[in-house]
Amino acid sequence: MKCPYCNSEDSKVIDSRDVNECVRRRRQCLDCNERFTTYERVLPCSLFVIKKDRRREEFNKDKLLSGIQKACGKRPLPVGAVEKLADDIEAEIYHMGKSEIASYKIGDMVMEGLKDLDYIAYIRFASVYRDFSDITDLKQEVDTLFNVGAVKKSVANGQLTLLPDEKSEKLSGGQDRIKNG
Ligand SMILES: [Zn+2]
Repeated sequence: MKCPYCNSEDSKVIDSRDVNECVRRRRQCLDCNERFTTYERVLPCSLFVIKKDRRREEFNKDKLLSGIQKACGKRPLPVGAVEKLADDIEAEIYHMGKSEIASYKIGDMVMEGLKDLDYIAYIRFASVYRDFSDITDLKQEVDTLFNVGAVKKSVANGQLTLLPDEKSEKLSGGQDRIKNG
């Protein structure tokens, strides 16, 4: 631990205490006698995310969670579903045992998870993450949902249908009236 004042590597700990999940240490430089503070924290293992522009930044679970939460805002999801998805993705990433991962891979994992959870959240996330430039991109993504049979599968899983119930009832009701008239 280098002294921030003189860069000396010799310091002594003059005070040490637990703060939340960290250890806070008050140190004094043996060369210049200045005092400074360090925080120590245990990490599962350091993991870096490689962004689109090649910048690397440390993996941040909170960032992952807030991205998923934004996409799922006001959607009728079971309590804890969003947190569970973030937990599962974090676990999967650490399970790979690599020290770095491309951000698009994490994005793909979120997309996969949201596809099973909620279409609207999936489309919302995709529109930001895939950077939809116009309605054609959006339509393509919705078409993919139908093409891969994801809709059928997820309805079986108890996910809401794409058309609200009232709307489909109205549609069939209208047809009945035409038949009767
Ligand atoms: Zn010093």
